[in-house]
Amino acid sequence: MTRVVLLGPPGAGKGTQAARLAEALGVPAISTGDIFRANIAGGTELGRTAQGYTSRGALVPDEVTNAMVAARLDEPDVAGGFLLDGYPRNVAQVSELDAMLAQRGTSLDVAVELTADTEVVVQRLLHRATVEGREDDTEPVIRHRLDVYREQTEPIAALYATRGLLVRVDGLGDVPVVTQRLLAALREAA
Ligand code: AMP
Repeated sequence: MTRVVLLGPPGAGKGTQAARLAEALGVPAISTGDIFRANIAGGTELGRTAQGYTSRGALVPDEVTNAMVAARLDEPDVAGGFLLDGYPRNVAQVSELDAMLAQRGTSLDVAVELTADTEVVVQRLLHRATVEGREDDTEPVIRHRLDVYREQTEPIAALYATRGLLVRVDGLGDVPVVTQRLLAALREAA
């Protein structure tokens, strides 16, 4: 279980859990949101392109995102596996990831969906806004990101389920408890 996709609405704790899981599994966590934010902070061309979308909670165009992920998957630390956090985010990206992995002679082992109640995640994100000051953590943008998740990302959970690759884990609870739940679910899926 070393090629893992982590799904879940914004605010479900994906980033926190991705880092902890990746460490436990000994694979890199690849967060597309973090890569975009690093590029925005660094003032790169990719960052300038991405910011027009991330600032309003819209998805960055697939061509841009797919190329960025493909480049990351070619880095040496990914040879033993990876944990993708925030990618794929729509059905087209699922196909693209399939193709990227097939080209590299491999495939996905499991997709884990971290579930959380909408109002809980809105409150968490509003709190995070006061701590981290993320540009996309204002209430209207949060609501838009949740709509985008429901419309574009949630359908991919069903798609992975039809392939027998989906496991669902309750994201509510203390961080270490949720990590243990995730690790148990991965062990079971193996
Ligand atoms: P996140 O940190 O995962 O919440 O992502 C923050 C923002 O980055 C999202 O609201 C999107 O604008 C952008 N983003 C992250 N991952 C993707 C992706 N797979 N496809 C398109 N846009 C993305």
